[in-house]
Formats: sequence, C-alpha cells, structure tokens
Amino acid sequence: MSILVTGGAGYIGSHTVVELSLHGYSVVIVDNLVNSSYDSISRVEYLVKKKIPFFNVDLRDSEALSKVFDQYKITGVIHFAALKAVGESTKIPLDYYENNVGGTVSLLKVMKSHDVKTIVFSSSATVYGDATRFENMIPIPEECPLGPTNPYGNTKLTIENILHDLYSSDHHWRAAVLRYFNPIGAHPSGLIGEDPLGIPNNLLPYLAQVAVGRREKLSVFGDDYDSHDGTPIRDYIHVVDLAKGHLAALAYLHKLNPDDGLYREWNLGTGKGSTVFDVYHAFSKAVGRDLPYEVVGRRAGDVLNLTAKATRANTELGWKAELSVEQACKDLWNWTTKNPFGFHVDHYSVNDGAFGEDRIHTVKFDDFSVSVANHGATLVDIQVDGAPKVCNFKDLKDYNLPSNPYFGATIGRIANRLPKGRFSIDGKEFVSGINDGRNSLHGGFHGFNSQYFFGPVARKGPEGVTLSFVYLDKDGNNGYPGDLLTTVNYIISPKSLEIEYQAELTPESSADATAVSLTNHSYFHLTDEENINNTEFKLVSSRFMEVDKEAIPTGKLKNWTDPDVTKPFVLSGRSFDHCFIVDEHPTKLDTRSLPLVKVLEASNGGKKLSIYTTEPSFQFYTGDGVNTKGYGERAGFAVEPCRFISAGAFDEWRNQVVVRKGEVYGGKNRYVFS
Ligand code: NAD
Repeated sequence: MSILVTGGAGYIGSHTVVELSLHGYSVVIVDNLVNSSYDSISRVEYLVKKKIPFFNVDLRDSEALSKVFDQYKITGVIHFAALKAVGESTKIPLDYYENNVGGTVSLLKVMKSHDVKTIVFSSSATVYGDATRFENMIPIPEECPLGPTNPYGNTKLTIENILHDLYSSDHHWRAAVLRYFNPIGAHPSGLIGEDPLGIPNNLLPYLAQVAVGRREKLSVFGDDYDSHDGTPIRDYIHVVDLAKGHLAALAYLHKLNPDDGLYREWNLGTGKGSTVFDVYHAFSKAVGRDLPYEVVGRRAGDVLNLTAKATRANTELGWKAELSVEQACKDLWNWTTKNPFGFHVDHYSVNDGAFGEDRIHTVKFDDFSVSVANHGATLVDIQVDGAPKVCNFKDLKDYNLPSNPYFGATIGRIANRLPKGRFSIDGKEFVSGINDGRNSLHGGFHGFNSQYFFGPVARKGPEGVTLSFVYLDKDGNNGYPGDLLTTVNYIISPKSLEIEYQAELTPESSADATAVSLTNHSYFHLTDEENINNTEFKLVSSRFMEVDKEAIPTGKLKNWTDPDVTKPFVLSGRSFDHCFIVDEHPTKLDTRSLPLVKVLEASNGGKKLSIYTTEPSFQFYTGDGVNTKGYGERAGFAVEPCRFISAGAFDEWRNQVVVRKGEVYGGKNRYVFS
C-alpha cells in the first residue's frame, strides 16, 4: 500500500518523501519536473536507501495518471504539485489556474475513479491575504477570513473550496488542508534542498546566493515597520518540520473511523515570528560573516506581521515545529556550500529522459569522458579523444545477458573465485552462490553487478567531479552475512578516473562480521583492433598465486618467469587469468590511506593506460573467455585490484576480507590514459 506524492521532486515534496520513507511508508512520486529535477529523487533514494517509483507525468494527463493508480495500490495522496511563484502568477494567471486548479481536478477525478478518497493538500498562508486588515487576527488562526491578493493565492483558495465541495457531496472524502507559512532550510544531510531556478523570490534562498557570490547583495524592503528592528515579521518553519506535519496529517486521517470523512484546515507554522534582520543575522552567523545588504523602500503589498497561530495543529495533529531558524540557516548553508548551483554540476549530464535504472551518468572534460550506470554502478564507457576504451553494450538491458562477462561492473561482495563458494569467519562457515562450476565467482548469482545502486550524488571539487553511488546489500543475499552498506565513488578529472570503495556493516545489521572484497571489472582496449594481442604490458610484480585447474588458488605464491612480466612484453598468444601480488603481507582493512602503486602499464597504437591501486593484489585477465554480443575472445583485458583471491578460504589471508561491525573496508584504484 503506497502513498502517492504529487510534486515529490520539488522542495517540500522531496523532504516529505524522505520522512515518509524513513517512517515505513511506500511512496510513489508523480511530477512533471516543470520546476525540479529527477536529481532530487535520486538523492532521496541515496539518503533512505530505498527505491522510489517515479512517473514523469503531468497531473492534467489523466490517462497517464490513471495508469499509476492502476499499477499501485494507492491509499492516500499528498498533493504538492503546483506552480508557486506569486509574481509570475500575476503575469500568467491562466497558466496558474490551468496547472494548479486543472491539475487538481484531474487528480481528484482519477482518485475518485480508483476509490482513493484521502488527500493531504499543500495550501498556503497566502489564502489569508493581509490578515492585519482585521483586529486580533495576528497570530493568524484558521478561522481568519480568507482573501488572497494574487492569482496564485486564488488558485489555492479555489482548490480548498473544491475539496470542501467534494467532501460535502460525499462524506467519505478525507481532506487535510495544510496552510504553510514560510518554509526554509534544507535537509541536514546536505543532499536535498531548495533549488530555485532563476532569481529566488524568497529571503533565504536569495541570501544563500549572495553568500556564494551569485548575487551581489540582499535588498531589505523597508526598515520602518513597527517591529523591534523595523523590518517585517514572518513565521519561518524548517522544511523538515513542515514535512513531518504531513505525516501527522496523514496519520490523523488514517485514524478516523472507517466510515468517517473530513474536511479540515491546519496552519503549519511555528507560531513565532522573526524579522527579516533576525533571519539575516542568523544566516550571516551560519556563514561566518556579515553578508552585503541594502535597505530599500517598502514593497507594495508587504505588511508588518504574518505569524501563524499553530495551536490547532499542535493539539489535534500532535505535531509541533521543533527546529529553530538558526538550525534552518545552518542546514541551508550546509546545502548551499555542498551544492552551490543546486543540483546542477558542471561537466555532468544524464541521458535524456531516463529515470531510475535506465540512467547513464556522464562526466565529460574536453577529450576524456566517463559514463556510469546505476545498474551495478557499472562503468559503461570511457572515451579518450573520441574513441572508446572499454568493452560495453549499447543497450543497458544487455548487461543482464548470461554471456556478459561482467563488463564494467562493480564486483562484490567477494570479487573473483571462492572455492566451492565457501568462506569462514570465526570458525563459522558460509556458502555463497555456486555459479562457476563447483565454485562461486564474483559474489554469486545476485552479485553487486546485478544490483540497482542509488544515487549518484554528483559533486564538483578540486579533484574533479565525483559520482557517489550507494548500495545496501541485505543480510543473506548470496549467502553473505550482515547488512552491508557500500559506497562507490567515481572521481573523474580531466585526465584520469579514480574509483573508491567503502563498505561497512550497518549498526542495525544482525550479523557482527562479514567478508568483502570489491573491485571494478572493466575490459580495456587501447585501439579498435579485434583483439588485444598487440598490446604491450608491464606489471609491477612477478609474484603471483598458483592456481589449480579450476583457477582456484592453491595457497602458494610463485614467481612468473616467462616472460619477465616486470619488463615490457607484447601479449601475443599468451594468456593470463592470475592474481599478482603487490603487497605480500597487507595489514590494512581500509587501504585508501596507502600510496597508490602503479601495478600495470598497457600500451598500443601510441595510447597508454596506467593502473594504480592501494590494494594488495590484482587479477590480470586477458579476456580469453569473452564471447558475448559484439565481442569475442581477447576483445579486452581486465585488471581487478582487490584482496587476495579466495582470501576468505585461507586462514593466513582471511583478515584481508573480514569486516566487523564498526570497521570500515576501503580501497582505491586509479586509471590514467595518455
Ligand atoms: P516546488 O516547485 O519545488 O515543487 C512543486 C513540484 O510540483 C515541482 O517539482 C513541479 O515540477 C511539480 N509540478 C508542478 N505542476 C505540476 C503538474 N501539473 N503535474 C505534475 N507535477 C507538477 O514547490 P514547493 O516549494 O516544494 O511547494 C510545494 C507545494 O507547497 C506547492 O503546492 C506550493 O504552492 C505550496 N507552498 C509552498 C510554499 C513555499 O514557500 N515553498 C509556501 C506555501 C505553499
């Protein structure tokens, strides 16, 4: 049973989806992205570690909307979707009526036809208009006479009336009308926040842009009001508090007797007023410096005080705003510094019109680009000077082909082979999926390569653009114990790619220890030749693991002598599927602080690839078994830096892969093309 959230990609909607998900609700989002981007949803998924079905649907498209209701068992709707800019609404009122009122009518009709009669509606304090025109109406109670002063406010009041009429016509409808005061702040994680496209209309988003240098200074409209500092008073509510108000309203509606309906309004505000200067000072404090501002004349339509009376929501819904303006300012600054241009990140793009699992994320510098899919956090393309450097499939679906030799995939929980799928921790034996003869390969049947990774969170830093993906591998998947949270960071700079792995058991994990060895399984080729035979290689070490006929390590280390792999050699007819040793006695579970060691150099046709790692070993595979759509044997070579192969099955190597609760596994690889 799901809650449909319209406008769930927007500012307040995305924060509400987080709260819903964290409180056990299943959520489905409908949004036409007219004022938002899908990035907010991918970041919500990243945050809550749950998949959130999304439909890029305009509410006025009742046919498409109906299909969503057909597909999911919707029990209630939280309706945020609307256009919301007051100034714009005075210029294009018809668009506002058509979108806000028309969209709502369409939604209500579809709800009715699917017998869904529970709705929480985003109204606004704007419906009161200038409440100072009455005596004793500040703070503003829900009984205050209504009188919006602009088309946007009129659309909200019209929708309130429609909901009321609907309830009057059929007392099974349950409509909670929430009149918001001034939502501010951002999620404390810094992952989601308001992403105003164009010039912000509201005080804090504007101030935030002044703070990062996108706007010159704040204009304070009048300092001659009758307040403690002369600036007008408003009721600012932290967006997380506001989001929680929706859960309280939904719970209230759900608790009604089965045959009862309701139409009722609640103010969502703090009940405490703050002046423009109060907010200015709180935000300047969060930033750590006084921000430029200028006092200009009063703005037409502004009034002294619009503070909410919030006691109805406090007593009836059992909800109260808890977070301060200071906290909201800190959270907004955290969001702004981490995302100075909102969800936009220079050099980063997503394939047009793709959502969820169909997305491919590309970071492109002049002559170097890297593309990664959510499916398996798979590296689907590297282009150098316009030429591809890894084997891949054009169609993401082909990554599910049984013949896919793990092209570009993230490999886990245990990379490479485990004899008979067995490994032991503290004397207890576990068995992973047997998917390679008698053994387990690359994590078993449902390895990381086949999982949907949440995110990415894309961010630009001095080192380049980082795409951060996360995946929560549940206890028991493929026989591995414990809930393991894995983060894979692709750090792309103009000349190189770095992949960083981090994994740890969650505090809630039922098992106290597990086994992990993570890597990437790209197949590289430096030219467009049919195979890699002409490639020249040089390895850091000739020390390698002896293996048996099933390619399972015997436990012995030997030296590769023919050829001397530490000197350049042309591959020609030789084949490798062996683990070479970088550090014979590794001690660290998180190797990321170790220096990156160049472990392999490959060159062909004037192009060179150097691979570095902090890991103690790497599997070198010349792709002799490749036989899949578009590619034959030796179409590419794989270099998989990770822990010793089969470490979990050998007493003397086991510590490399055992991760206990509270410990962090980490590793880092770098790929440099020249
Ligand atoms: P927002 O613009 O960030 O979110 C609204 C979302 O609705 C956007 O993602 C937009 O793409 C989507 N949308 C708009 N029209 C649509 C349509 N026809 N079909 C499908 N999706 C559509 O705005 P917000 O600040 O998150 O506001 C959410 C709700 O709260 C709105 O109804 C707004 O009027 C109301 N509200 C906002 C404030 C405020 O200050 N932010 C104050 C009071 C009330």
